[in-house]
Amino acid sequence: MLHYCKKCGRIAQESYTQKVQKCDCCETIMLPVPPKYLFEGFDIAFKDKETERLLIEELVKTSPEFDQYLFDHRDEILAKQSVEFNAKMEHGRAVLENASRKVTCPYCKSTNVKKIGQLNRTVSTGLFGLGSKKIGKQWHCNGCGSDF
Ligand SMILES: [Zn+2]
Ligand SMILES: [Zn+2]
Repeated sequence: MLHYCKKCGRIAQESYTQKVQKCDCCETIMLPVPPKYLFEGFDIAFKDKETERLLIEELVKTSPEFDQYLFDHRDEILAKQSVEFNAKMEHGRAVLENASRKVTCPYCKSTNVKKIGQLNRTVSTGLFGLGSKKIGKQWHCNGCGSDF
């Protein structure tokens, strides 16, 4: 079911994870789009572009909560929010990755380990040939100096 925001004119699909449909732009409670604007028997789409425009004219712009500034800048606000959201997701992912990267040295149990970079491994291959101890080792322990 489509919902609309009478403050900023945002149109969005119902989110099943939310009890009340809140506008992701201005946090106003959204209202279900009346069936007369909707494609018959198919309540997730407008009849056409014209009915969508009509809904804005008839129900959004006439509402006392209507906010012209939000209406005009809705896309910008949403774009900004999605950038912030992505940044948060990115941060969360990085934190998770760091947490799962907690590697301990099997010899001295130190967590003071660092990843042996691909470059390092290539260099040691070049220097010591295939017999190098670093081949196949991913981590270097700063505590006891061993590779594992
Ligand atoms: Zn809104
Ligand atoms: Zn160690």
